Amino acid sequence: MNKKQKRMLIRILVGAALLIAAALLPTIWLPVGLPFVSVSHVAQDGTVAFSLSKWPLYLIPYFVVGWDILWKAVRNIAHGQIFDENFLMALATVGAFATGEYPEAVFVMLFYQVGELFQSYAVGKSRQSIAKLMDIRPDWANVERSGRLERVDPEEVAVGDVIVIKPGERVPLDGVVLEGTSSLDTAALTGESLPRQVAADSDVISGCINLTGLLRVRVTKAFGESTVAKILDLVENASSRKARAENFITKFARYYTPAVVAAAVLVAVITPLVTSVGWVESVQRAFTFLVISCPCALVISVPLTFFGGIGGASRQGILVKGGNYLEVLAQSEIVVFDKTGTLTRGVFNVTAIHPQECPEGRLLELAALAESYSDHPISRSLKEAYGLPLDTSRVGRVEELSGRGVRAEIDGAVVCAGNDKLMDEIGVTWHPCHKVGTTVHVAMDGVYMGHIVISDEVKPDAREAISALKAAGVRRTVMLTGDAKAVGEDVARQLGLDEVHTQLLPADKVDRVEALLQEKSPRGALAFVGDGINDAPVLSRADIGIAMGAMGSDAAIEAADVVLMDDKPSKIALAISIARRTISIVKQNIVFAIAVKVLVLLLTAAGYTSMWMGVFADVGVMVLAVLNATRALRTAKGPAQAE
Ligand code: ADP
Ligand code: MG
Repeated sequence: MNKKQKRMLIRILVGAALLIAAALLPTIWLPVGLPFVSVSHVAQDGTVAFSLSKWPLYLIPYFVVGWDILWKAVRNIAHGQIFDENFLMALATVGAFATGEYPEAVFVMLFYQVGELFQSYAVGKSRQSIAKLMDIRPDWANVERSGRLERVDPEEVAVGDVIVIKPGERVPLDGVVLEGTSSLDTAALTGESLPRQVAADSDVISGCINLTGLLRVRVTKAFGESTVAKILDLVENASSRKARAENFITKFARYYTPAVVAAAVLVAVITPLVTSVGWVESVQRAFTFLVISCPCALVISVPLTFFGGIGGASRQGILVKGGNYLEVLAQSEIVVFDKTGTLTRGVFNVTAIHPQECPEGRLLELAALAESYSDHPISRSLKEAYGLPLDTSRVGRVEELSGRGVRAEIDGAVVCAGNDKLMDEIGVTWHPCHKVGTTVHVAMDGVYMGHIVISDEVKPDAREAISALKAAGVRRTVMLTGDAKAVGEDVARQLGLDEVHTQLLPADKVDRVEALLQEKSPRGALAFVGDGINDAPVLSRADIGIAMGAMGSDAAIEAADVVLMDDKPSKIALAISIARRTISIVKQNIVFAIAVKVLVLLLTAAGYTSMWMGVFADVGVMVLAVLNATRALRTAKGPAQAE
């Protein structure tokens, strides 16, 4: 409990004690003429009993407990914002005083404050757990400077600096291991409970915890660009993108409150005209009406639920950029995948080298040089296969031809490396290969030099990911790839995908997605999953774009609405189930709160309730709704875990 909450608690306790004192203060005998005193009883022997009129006594606990509400109500009216819950409470309690229900008035205020206190506690709690979840910000980095270790703020470390990470410390910046072996706990980032082994040359990402060994790491990204900084940024901005349900509630409250005030006036005016109920009681009913009608349960619980859903997902390494995306995700009907790096690992092995005019080594060298500036999985793999350091001063005028390959000048000659399409484009006759695999043809100054056949593996959880989606009710799974027909169809068969379209350029992928968008049902959503290497346009065109975060490019993380930190396609079904559960909690709360309120409002209008019941109904609904909302945070720990 924080200070403010403690102070509130004390006010509530003091107010309650004063209320009890006021109620118990016995009727006392007093000489005639004192203020607030009235004749209560004349005994047979002629003595007159006087009693203290009690309402001033009740004013004390009333102000102790409720002064801030009254003050806020007055201030808001001065600002022209009349209809809020403070106004409702102030009006209802002042009304109760006016109609002689003094203890009720104090009690309403008291109970309302208990509810507020409870709610602020629950909100604080779930914020805390999200903050804990997001507690991945490193506090310091140990930098090697002139042979000594210095502990500095991670923001002061530059790219290329060497840092030392001791066992037990958090990895402060993204980098490459120079020396040391260790295992890293990546749970905070990916939800993965198995530690990851790292050794020299492994990439490490910030936010993980170094468990066992000492690591010397060369920093590859400044803190602002690091994984940690990006995640924190995403999460901080997530709550600013409002879900439709949230916007609905805000609008709802704006019309609802004045409508309720109008209804209360009608109750007060019409009841005595059409029934035998007296004026005073009618007015009392109208005030009870106001107490019940406070929409706080919804106004608080709906955003809290989305907040919890986003937090629960990030615990599993799924970053959702806003509540609105949870809503769309829950409606996923068609899921479209990119192949390379999304369903397959994006790590190609060279399976054959078929040179035409030169030795094998020369062909591989040309390909690796031409690819030297590209980050495409094919490029990385070819450079890996070449294995020797590349002299990039021999390379100039590099051009990436997305979906086809690369063109570069090497030692003054124009070298193209890419697929059939690229060869056709530059008018080079290529030789088809009998081996199944992705073929990279190489041409130099218009002369065909031969080809390299490479092959990729499907990710270990890809098959399961597709069946989990089917089980979750996704109607169609589609794969789009720029790769050759044989390769694409082979992967689709292995994974059990419904459809595959091959040999697509990035623009063709956009066209395909547009066509699929026409084919989905009106309430369904189309999700596109990619690694962002030349599919950023499709990511933003789909109803919801999901990107691979660890492998993917920065552009993808920008363009995507959901980022999977550990690149596991099986997390998509998990994300959908988290989204569905969050939405169902929101719906439960909306339906439940409105149903209870309508019921109690009707009972009130008919005269079956008292102001006491009104308060119980209002606060009770709020408490239950908030408790239900906090369930969203725990979602992902449940059995839905698709591992
Ligand atoms: P995917 O749709 O599977 O993600 P891309 O659209 O990135 O694949 O690429 C489609 C095809 O274009 C690849 O299968 C490959 O034949 C060719 N290609 C793309 N980039 C390169 C590159 N850097 N080097 C060689 N070939 C490439
Ligand atoms: Mg791709």
